[in-house]
Amino acid sequence: MASRLAGLDSNERNKLYKRAAMLRKTTRRPDRSSVAVDDFDDDAPVFRKKPAASLQDLVLRLLEQELIEPEAPGTTQTEGTVVWLGRQSCRVQTAEGEWECEISGNLARDQQTSLAVGDVAVVRSSGDNRVVRSVHPRRTRLSRPDPDNTHIERVIVANVDLVVITVSVKTPPLHPRLIDRFMVAIQKGGAQAALCVNKLDLLTDPEERKTELGKLVPYAAAGLMIVECSTVNREGMQRLRNLIAGKVCAFVGHSGVGKSSILNALRPELEIETKSVSEGYGRGRHTTTASSLYDLGEGTRLIDTPGIRSFGLWQMSAAEVGWYFPEFEPLLDGCKFRDCSHVHEPGCGVKRALEAGDLSGHRYETYLRLLKEA
Ligand code: GDP
Ligand code: ZN
Repeated sequence: MASRLAGLDSNERNKLYKRAAMLRKTTRRPDRSSVAVDDFDDDAPVFRKKPAASLQDLVLRLLEQELIEPEAPGTTQTEGTVVWLGRQSCRVQTAEGEWECEISGNLARDQQTSLAVGDVAVVRSSGDNRVVRSVHPRRTRLSRPDPDNTHIERVIVANVDLVVITVSVKTPPLHPRLIDRFMVAIQKGGAQAALCVNKLDLLTDPEERKTELGKLVPYAAAGLMIVECSTVNREGMQRLRNLIAGKVCAFVGHSGVGKSSILNALRPELEIETKSVSEGYGRGRHTTTASSLYDLGEGTRLIDTPGIRSFGLWQMSAAEVGWYFPEFEPLLDGCKFRDCSHVHEPGCGVKRALEAGDLSGHRYETYLRLLKEA
């Protein structure tokens, strides 16, 4: 490999070093690095054990991974962001515009794992023929097991800074359980989580408003950023704008909660098709069938995702589940055992807080459920 590197022309070699430097930056987790590095990046097992590998090592590994096979005459290589993904093709935003691309055989075989909206893709072009050949290791990801085959990872979005879990207070009614699951998966994938509570205009009765919004108190206690809004009376929209400014954000949640409407309210010129309430959350037609990335400029990019009804946990050990309940953290000093599972152990800080009413019973119950699944 070293001699192959030496044989490259200086331009190619420089490009390779640049890419390796970027890789080194992007494969470092923003936080909890001691926790998840080992489990996090399936794409690049070579980077897993030594996230701080030397630049030279990374360059050689990139060569090995054939990210830069010698180019055939007449072909060029360009990088860009995957903004839409279909069955056999995808659209990639490059510096030269948005390109419709084919997906190379090795990526197409397990497309739902290997390619996702938000990925940085390497495109080989030869005339009008454009093929995505490889994908850079992901900075963050949001994954779940394939509902039909739980051994297969489905990557919903890649490289987002923030995942906005979107719920509505009515039509469809608020189901906090899905929020818990999303929170765990988002943290595991390395992105930040926030909660957007939409359709506040439908809560006209003050008592009802208090009851419904009361369901969110445990999430605020867990440190989740919460924005309450309505695309109808526009309340909360400025707060939402402030939240997403300059970030790559994905909006996830049940169908019909108003994800597309929110994106339109944030930037009307997007003109994303929305659906009527009746077909929005029944068994009706789904308008959003694939994720799409919209560039709002100034570093803000939004990804609209299809509605998700259920959410399993991807490759989660029982010990790991507790790490993703941030409100447990200050209670752990009260646990007698370092590896306390907070289920049956005596002297458990988490259970003590639960009994004292300082920890939400709903959240603890979710924790127990997720432990059983892990
Ligand atoms: P998505 O499936 O999450 O993308 O949901 P849509 O954006 O397609 O919206 C589903 C339905 O909810 C549509 O009929 C919207 O008009 C309606 N809707 C969206 N936001 C609001 C809101 O703030 N208040 C009310 N009352 N309805 C809304
Ligand atoms: Zn404990």
